[in-house]
Amino acid sequence: MAGQPGRWALIVHGGAKEISPEEEEDNRSGCLQALAAGREVLERGGNALDAVEASIRVLEALPVFNAGLGSALNILGEVEMCAALMDGQTLRIGAVGALMGVRHPVSVARKILPEEPVLLVGDGAFMFARDHHAELCDPRELIVEKRKESLEQLHDTVGAVALDMNGNVAAGTSTGGLTGAMKGRMGDSAIPGCGYYADNHIGGVAISGHGEGIARLAAAAQIMGAIDRDGPESAIAKALGQMSRVGGDADAIAIDRQGRLGWWHNSEHFAVAMTASDTDEPKVWLKKEEELSANG
Ligand code: ASP
Repeated sequence: MAGQPGRWALIVHGGAKEISPEEEEDNRSGCLQALAAGREVLERGGNALDAVEASIRVLEALPVFNAGLGSALNILGEVEMCAALMDGQTLRIGAVGALMGVRHPVSVARKILPEEPVLLVGDGAFMFARDHHAELCDPRELIVEKRKESLEQLHDTVGAVALDMNGNVAAGTSTGGLTGAMKGRMGDSAIPGCGYYADNHIGGVAISGHGEGIARLAAAAQIMGAIDRDGPESAIAKALGQMSRVGGDADAIAIDRQGRLGWWHNSEHFAVAMTASDTDEPKVWLKKEEELSANG
């Protein structure tokens, strides 16, 4: 069954993590700002890919999230970032891994999308970004004070999934990875079928959490395989329920081709905002229990 013609939907998240009371408001308002940027694209008939990129750019610019500005630091105290965008219409993918010195890794991924390579990493990714006029910066400009102090392992990739009025689905991710990771380490967030996937015939998914475990489960592929039968939420819950086999937390958002939205998490918190053409108000939640109690 296809979605209703003209229906659009958007879901964004600020990462799998534990949110302290002082950071609750920044997480809610950041997710709502990201949602507004993507929604503006979808409302005027724009495409899902543009909406996902617009939403993720907002999250990358806010220091409260582990993406772009405010990214986690690797073992050398550097910001190395991964990001991806996938177009469900063409199945084209643009992704970057262990990239330094750009403000918006998701927009570098966007520039790779029409090219033959799916994924560029490290210096090669930086050279591509420079040659394609990405927004470069001194890598140290992305470091914020609280990350220097934090030894806690972050699992808070950001992500977005959109369905546009024409039935196109897109998914994207962006992350500074795990605190204290080895230089050059890439988790799931740039790898299709692991941290994300999008296919107009099925739907789209974006995941956050412990990248090694997510990759070992090929979690996005599992969710995509089950979404039609189980619906987005159960498909996510079943796939990520298997994290106990590999260790670590994982959370995800998804939209199916009918425009059904779903999310599920096994970290303490998961900041999520969502909206659709046929809902009144955007919704934002910091954990599933909030949504369940609001819906009675
Ligand atoms: N999935 C990311 C990674 O392993 C981490 C995260 O979600 O923060 O690189």
